[in-house]
Amino acid sequence: MKRTYHLRVAGLLLAAGLLAGISCGETTRRESANKPEAGESQALEGESQAMEGESQAGEGEIQAAEGAGPPETDAAAGETTWAGGEATGVGEPQSAPNPPSLESLPDTTFIRLADYSDAFAYDLRYATDNNFLGEVVYPCGECYTRVKTARALLAANADFRKQGLRIRFFDCYRPNSVQYKMWELVPNPQYVANPEKGSIHNKGGAVDITLETLEGEPLEMGTDFDFFGPKAHHDHTNLPEAVLENRKILKETMESHGFLSIRTEWWHYNLRAAVNDPVDNFQWPCPSS
Ligand SMILES: [Zn+2]
Repeated sequence: MKRTYHLRVAGLLLAAGLLAGISCGETTRRESANKPEAGESQALEGESQAMEGESQAGEGEIQAAEGAGPPETDAAAGETTWAGGEATGVGEPQSAPNPPSLESLPDTTFIRLADYSDAFAYDLRYATDNNFLGEVVYPCGECYTRVKTARALLAANADFRKQGLRIRFFDCYRPNSVQYKMWELVPNPQYVANPEKGSIHNKGGAVDITLETLEGEPLEMGTDFDFFGPKAHHDHTNLPEAVLENRKILKETMESHGFLSIRTEWWHYNLRAAVNDPVDNFQWPCPSS
């Protein structure tokens, strides 16, 4: 009864709106939510904006999974996933004894980065509640990417190490089901990429990173990870010289290894060669204890 009443009222309001020449409020709000205002609200991970170095290649525009629901399967058909050795939890991923060589694996296979290098550092925030959601959304902290992303990250990290630095990861591949979970917690395209379209994190082609010294001291970047505001933007220059220099080292090195930055997040990098890959829902294994 109540529902019928609401529908009737909605119908009357809609009719009144049409007569008065105004559009439906809900439609208007959704449209405006997808249009970032200059210098103000921007979407997390390029939801509604162009990536730097690309004319119109924001994440939301590259792919169209219209109407897609949460994926049912763990991995796209025909793809292989090498799940690695023993997972060890947040912060301390350790190498598996005998991972297959990266050269022997297809570009799109998912691999656990720590199985191929112990030269990275990890601070995987979504496996903790120290993130903008304020909730743990990963069963355990692991950094997986597709093989081609891993190759580019290994090469970039080798360059950073020549400067006495290394990559520290905040986030890597993110299962599409977790994107839905994040969207449930924060259903706002300004902060979370719509899971139906997916994020390049869901494709194993994006990473959120900063730099630290080989002694583990993080470089000053001006804001924390997932700080949403102009101070996190690449074009925000009202920052100490050292911060600007640190961001520059990060950006230039990543770009020289095939990554694209996005204007609003100094920590986010998309592998150019991964932006058109399919969204995935592979779930990494966690320690059984
Ligand atoms: Zn990101």
